[in-house]
Amino acid sequence: MIKFLDLKKINLLHQEAIEQRLISTFRSGWYLLGEEVKQFEGHLSAYIGAGHSIGVANGLDALRLICRAYIELGIFSEGDEIIVPANTYIASVLAITDCNLVPVFVEPDNATFNIDIAKIEAAITPKTTAIMIVHLYGRAVFSKELKALAQKHDLKIIEDNAQAIGAEINSIKTGNLGDAAGFSFYPGKNLGALGDGGAVTTNDSDLAKAIRALANYGSETKYVNIYKGLNSRLDEIQAAVLDEKLKHLDAENSRRREIAKYYVQNISNPLITLPEYPNDEKEHVWHLFVIRIAERDRLQKYLIKNSIQTLIHYPIPLYKQEAYKEFAHLDFPVTEAIHHEVLSLPISPVLMDEEVKTIVEVLNDFK
Ligand SMILES: *Cc1c(COP(=O)(O)O)cnc(C)c1O
Repeated sequence: MIKFLDLKKINLLHQEAIEQRLISTFRSGWYLLGEEVKQFEGHLSAYIGAGHSIGVANGLDALRLICRAYIELGIFSEGDEIIVPANTYIASVLAITDCNLVPVFVEPDNATFNIDIAKIEAAITPKTTAIMIVHLYGRAVFSKELKALAQKHDLKIIEDNAQAIGAEINSIKTGNLGDAAGFSFYPGKNLGALGDGGAVTTNDSDLAKAIRALANYGSETKYVNIYKGLNSRLDEIQAAVLDEKLKHLDAENSRRREIAKYYVQNISNPLITLPEYPNDEKEHVWHLFVIRIAERDRLQKYLIKNSIQTLIHYPIPLYKQEAYKEFAHLDFPVTEAIHHEVLSLPISPVLMDEEVKTIVEVLNDFK
């Protein structure tokens, strides 16, 4: 069986170094808000090029904390509207609604799966305060037009960078394109912890300070609480592992690009629509390699019969979920077609050339 993602193999690539970091953190006797987190935050800031990084408990919290901090700073008010792509993972939208902000959905672009920048302006109202862009599947989205639009309407740009760590546009890394960015270190992400983890990056010192306090019970000084905060901290153990794995992220993303390029150049079945391989390949870190096909479910069954595991990202649009019944009347044809047709092929730094070749051959034989 070719697994969709072999997490054990991915982490064993760096077994010795990771085990050393685990042991030394274990023996240090200090497990929260210590030197490992500080060191990882420093390295993450340097890698992204951002002024501040704050380690938090997970990617959802990273995005929630950005929204909460903007409310505490008086920049957002409850009831304000945040523009967000209709085809994103539900976490982007949970962060918005959890802060009593209102998501306003915009259709994605068929070629990139990312928010269609040309459709944003029509969704802006006097209540809009931000655009949340999501670098979906690992492909960065940003443009001069987007930046100009945000400036014209005085909107913050929040990046959901859970899937695209390491991607860049015109030499600027995702996580440093907008005003603030949320990262996820869920084990299956391109930079994955051995459990949950997340981070916020920003160049805004006031925002960074508010987020750091909010994530630690709303407190800057122990037992002095300035906000009704939450407990959302990155563990020392996870920070140590992430700090070690960050060293190898670029090499691992390059291997993902190599596999994506092979897929794009060799999958030739006319029933299959391939994702676009960007002209500037640094814009994509291929967290997922997502193909489209009308008979998606039949292809998935055929692949399983041929010992190839795939996943669907995502089977149900978030506004059709039970959790968001208030949005059930909404209709986004581009988004819905995507949800019916997408299939994610195996892609990871540990997928072997032989496996990639087999996957291509099996796909090309599908009738
Ligand atoms: C994974 C993910 C998140 C949430 O991250 P967690 O660490 O699982 O909370 C948010 N947005 C997107 C697009 C994601 O893929």
